[in-house]
Amino acid sequence: MYLKELKLLNYRNYDSLHIEVHPKLNIIVGENAQGKTNVIEAIYLCAIGKSFRTNKDQELVKLDKKQAYIKAILEKANGEIEIEMKLDKEEKKKIKVNRIPLIKMGELLGNLNVVIFSPDDLKIIKGGPVERRRFIDNEICQIYPKYYYHLNQYNRILQQRNKLLKDNRGKKIDLDIWNHQLANVGAFIIYNRRKFIKRIGILAKLMHRKITDEIESLEIIYDSSIPVVEKDENNDITEKFLSELKRTCDEEILKKATVVGPHRDDLLIKINNMEVKNYGSQGQQRTAVLSLKMAELEFIKGEVGEYPILLLDDVMSELDTNRQQYLINNLKNIQTFITTTIIEQLKTKEINNRIFYVKKGEI
Ligand code: ATP
Ligand code: MG
Repeated sequence: MYLKELKLLNYRNYDSLHIEVHPKLNIIVGENAQGKTNVIEAIYLCAIGKSFRTNKDQELVKLDKKQAYIKAILEKANGEIEIEMKLDKEEKKKIKVNRIPLIKMGELLGNLNVVIFSPDDLKIIKGGPVERRRFIDNEICQIYPKYYYHLNQYNRILQQRNKLLKDNRGKKIDLDIWNHQLANVGAFIIYNRRKFIKRIGILAKLMHRKITDEIESLEIIYDSSIPVVEKDENNDITEKFLSELKRTCDEEILKKATVVGPHRDDLLIKINNMEVKNYGSQGQQRTAVLSLKMAELEFIKGEVGEYPILLLDDVMSELDTNRQQYLINNLKNIQTFITTTIIEQLKTKEINNRIFYVKKGEI
């Protein structure tokens, strides 16, 4: 799939923008704070429905304006798709796909697939478990809307269950009904996360081997707070979840919170059997993320049959020449948007591209 046109009105620092983009490589050049990432963010928004920089939609609307509008026209294997989004400082955002208004936000997912790679992604390695869970959840939601609904449901049940634990201040309470709901939905989440990590782990390992000339071996493992094993199906995980809830009930009452479940799970990312978070060099951490991102591209291709759009925000300057070249060489069939402050930095041999110069919200 690829983007053909992008239109912005009163979005961030743009009054009005209409660009026709290249089906392969698009390079967005400009000094700091001119509006490069804003373009990437608008494309991301059309795919995921929320920004990767903020949860507050009102920040996306130009300061002195009330409403913003985004329109993206894309080409997919089975035809053209038009995504429109109206952002309002006071109301919930409204989205249309092919002029049909969406009722639920989740309906947007799956129309446009993107993989974003920005310096912030180092958080997947260096940050806390919350960052790694967000990474997994965002990826699965994109290709599997059912997961998105289950995740929301899980968070609602968890919130209510935790509220009960808090309100009852150390007294034993009957949480049976809640436990069953939590375990059922939670098992679905764990099952799908494990499946996803297994696939993406294999792909990332292959990428990593190539990038490091077979010297390093990358391993990614889903580290669950529920003692699941390889062959566990959904209902096995539900049973284990329930017995973990039983086992931890005293601790829960003490801590006034649910202490096991997918909201406490993590990812282990290892190179040559050592955790990259603690033992990896800066370069190794970056390479691990690069491998993960390249793996995502292949994963989405495998799931939806088409490559997603790749958004590279400010990452080229962080990679050495070899890694840059590796990346560019691997993007032949993938529409890519690259932001950079200096065009010379991009040692790309790809001549087939379009360059956009950005200055103060104008291209
Ligand atoms: P860098 O190279 O530093 O990453 P950039 O070109 O990617 O810069 P962006 O993040 O795209 O910069 O744009 C930042 C600019 O947009 C800033 O000048 C900021 O003040 C402006 N901006 C952000 N949100 C709004 C808004 N809601 N209304 C008006 N201007 C905004
Ligand atoms: Mg930027």
